[in-house]
Amino acid sequence: MALIHCEECGREISEHAFACPRCGYPRRRSAPMSRGIRILLAVFVFMLVAMFGFALTAAWLMRKPVDIELPQRSLSSAAVSVG
Ligand SMILES: [Zn+2]
Repeated sequence: MALIHCEECGREISEHAFACPRCGYPRRRSAPMSRGIRILLAVFVFMLVAMFGFALTAAWLMRKPVDIELPQRSLSSAAVSVG
């Protein structure tokens, strides 16, 4: 657990504290924290895009054999009805 200095009184407080326990000064978001949130958001968006692409590829791969099968069935049934 890292310690940071309070912006108001200069006392060392926990980086996870919402406010300084001595003077009650509310902490602002530090730069490393916002950067971590940005990285998390980037990873989240990347996972969403990757999952979306994987789902599209899986759907396309699963749909392809069905499209090939259907004309064969209709052709064979048509041949039976004609013949
Ligand atoms: Zn303080």
